[in-house]
Amino acid sequence: MVLVSTKYIFVTGGVLSSVGKGVTTASLGMLLKSIGYSVTAIKIDPYINVDAGTMNPYIHGEVFVTEDGGETDLDLGHYERFLDVDLSKHNNITTGQIYYSVIMKERKGNYLGQCVQIIPHITDEIKSRIREVAKQSGADIVLVEIGGTVGDIEGLPFLEAVRQMRLEEGFENTLFIHVALVPFLKATEELKTKPLQHSVQELRRIGIQPDTIVARSDRPLTLEAQQKIALYSNVPLHAVFSNYDVETVYEVPLILHKQGMTRYIAQRLNLEYHEPDLSRWRDFIDKLKHVDKSVKIAMVGKYTALKDSYISIIEALRHAAAHLKVRTELVWVEATDVERGLRDPNEILEKVDGALILPGFGKRGAEGKIKVIKEARERGIPVLGICFGLQLMVVEFARNVIGLKDANSTEINPSTPHPVVDLMEEQKRIKGLGGTMRLGSHPITLVQGSKVHRIYGTHIIYERHRHRYEINPKYVDMLESCGLIVSGWSKERFPEFMELKDHTFYIGTQAHPEFKSRPLRPSPIYLAFVAAITQG
Ligand code: GLN
Repeated sequence: MVLVSTKYIFVTGGVLSSVGKGVTTASLGMLLKSIGYSVTAIKIDPYINVDAGTMNPYIHGEVFVTEDGGETDLDLGHYERFLDVDLSKHNNITTGQIYYSVIMKERKGNYLGQCVQIIPHITDEIKSRIREVAKQSGADIVLVEIGGTVGDIEGLPFLEAVRQMRLEEGFENTLFIHVALVPFLKATEELKTKPLQHSVQELRRIGIQPDTIVARSDRPLTLEAQQKIALYSNVPLHAVFSNYDVETVYEVPLILHKQGMTRYIAQRLNLEYHEPDLSRWRDFIDKLKHVDKSVKIAMVGKYTALKDSYISIIEALRHAAAHLKVRTELVWVEATDVERGLRDPNEILEKVDGALILPGFGKRGAEGKIKVIKEARERGIPVLGICFGLQLMVVEFARNVIGLKDANSTEINPSTPHPVVDLMEEQKRIKGLGGTMRLGSHPITLVQGSKVHRIYGTHIIYERHRHRYEINPKYVDMLESCGLIVSGWSKERFPEFMELKDHTFYIGTQAHPEFKSRPLRPSPIYLAFVAAITQG
C-alpha cells in the first residue's frame, strides 16, 4: 500500500500537561502500523533548550537516548516501545533548535535584505523539519505531538506552522487530534467537560478546528459527556474517544481500537482498512496481568520521588516480567536517605529479592548507593547496576574487597588516591555540557564464557550509552584477580560489562540496555535479571 502523499496527524493537548498525549500518540501509531502502514512520530517541545540533555530528570523525567545519540524527551521512549521502531534525534524538535538554525542562517546572510520574523521564517523552519523527518524515515504516516498545553505562549509558532500545513498538504492528508482532560467531580458525581470545551475554543481561536477529540478521564466517558464534547467541539459524535485510566499504558491502543478509532482515522485519511491482528499485543497484556508469582526489587536511586526519571528502566522490567509471567514490585530506595542515615540498607534488603542500582550523576546520594551495594553483594541477592550503578559497584568492590581505602570515582572525589572510575580520555578536552557525553549506540565485544555472553548469546552487541566516565582500565587486572571480571569491552577498551564470578547474578553495565527493550522483545539483560530473581 504505497501512498501518493504522506499523511500527517497532529496531536495537541488541552487543560493540563502530562495528560497522556504521548501514550495516546504512541497508541495511535501502533494501531496504524497494525493495519499495514509505516509510521514515525515526532515530539515537539516548545522549550528553549536545544535538547533534553541538560534538564534535570527530577523535574522533566528521563532523558531518552536514541540510537544516533540524541538526548530526547521521554515520549520518544513511548513511541519506540509502542511502534517497535528506532527513531532519530531529529524526531524531537525544540524551540531551541528552530531559533538556533534560523539565527545561524541569518548570520550567514541567507535572508539578506529581509526582516526575519516568526511568520514566515520560524514557521517555515518548523515545517521543513517536520517534512525532513517524513522524508528521511520514508514513513507513510507521521504523527506530530505538540508538547505543552494549547494556550501556552511557547507553543504558538508550532500551532501556527501545523495550521499552515493543513492548507499545504490538504484536508485528506492531515488530521488534528486534541487530547484533553475531563475531570470527575466527586461532589456532583459528574465528568466535567467545560475545561475541554475551553481548550478547544482556544485552539479554534488560533485557527485550528480539531477533527477528533480524545478525552482523558479516570473512568469511561458517559454518552452524555461524549455528546456534550461533540457539540461544543464541533466534531461528530463518533470522532470523540474516551481514553480512561487502565491498569497499564499498553492497554490504551486496545481501548481506543475497540471504540473504532483505527477505522475512523483510516477512513478520514483515505487509508485502506482491514481488521488488524492484535493478538500478540493482547497476549502480552494478558501475561502482564495474570502472573504466577510476585518478586520485590529494590530500586536504588536519587530521583525516586519522580518515577518518570526512570521510565525506560521501569518499562524494561515490565517487559521482562510479562515474558516470565511474574509481577515485579518495585521498592523505591532514596539513596540520599540512606546516605544521611535515615534508612538502614540492612532493613531495606531484608525485604527484597533483588536490587537494581540506578543511573545518575554527581555526588549527592552516591555514598548511600555504595552502602546498599555492599549489603546487597554480601547478601548474595541478584544485583543489576546501570551506568553509574556499575561505576559505584566497582568503587564499593575496590574499597571493601580489594581494600583500596577511599577508592572513588573522580566525578565524586577528584582527588581520590584510587580513581577506579575516571573521566574518559576524549572527555578531558571537552568544555561545554550540552550533547557532549559519549552518546548513543556503540558496539560491545562480549567475553567468551562470561554470564553476559551466555545471556546475549552472541559475541558483539550494540547498546545505547550516555556517560562521561569509565572504569579506569588501570585497575582492571586488580579487580579481575579479586573476582570482579570484565564480560564486555568497548571499542576503546574500557569495561562495558562486569560481573562477579561466583555469584548467580551480580552484573553491572556502562550501557543503558533499557532503551532498546520492547514489549514483545524484552532486553536480554533485564530478562536474565528478573529470571535470576524469580528463580532465587
Ligand atoms: N555520571 C556517570 C557518568 O557520566 C554515569 C552516568 C549515567 O549513569 N548515565 O559516567
